[in-house]
Amino acid sequence: MIEVLATPWQIMVSHAESTYPRECCGAMLGDRREDRKVVTSAVPLPNSFAGAQGARYEIGNDDLLAADRAARSHGLQLLGIFHSHPDCDAYFSTTDLQNSCPWFSFIVLSIQNGRFHHANSFLPDLDQTRADKEELVWHNA
Ligand SMILES: [Zn+2]
Repeated sequence: MIEVLATPWQIMVSHAESTYPRECCGAMLGDRREDRKVVTSAVPLPNSFAGAQGARYEIGNDDLLAADRAARSHGLQLLGIFHSHPDCDAYFSTTDLQNSCPWFSFIVLSIQNGRFHHANSFLPDLDQTRADKEELVWHNA
């Protein structure tokens, strides 16, 4: 289970809405407690995909390393990545699976007509052949 606190959730939703109709992406930082991951901070990152960004995102390695360093310097862990699906359901696409890594949670936010609609979290397996849904809880401000 992954739980997103109100402040990072607000950052994730407003980043996804403001980049609409392009896909947005970012890092989720926090800590692991007994039975769950708790996201306490979210960092919007640039979508560095060179083509049309309506249905693709890419995170630069440098940006991801910087987010990881920022997490560590605050005593937090990089727990996962979030990205948006403009006018599309919050599912995990084949491309998402190929670009994933098994030790992260991946939250997908569905943005419909520029507004947040729903979200899901996914956990890719070790071979990146499938990603199971993970229970997701978020807090509204
Ligand atoms: Zn996607």
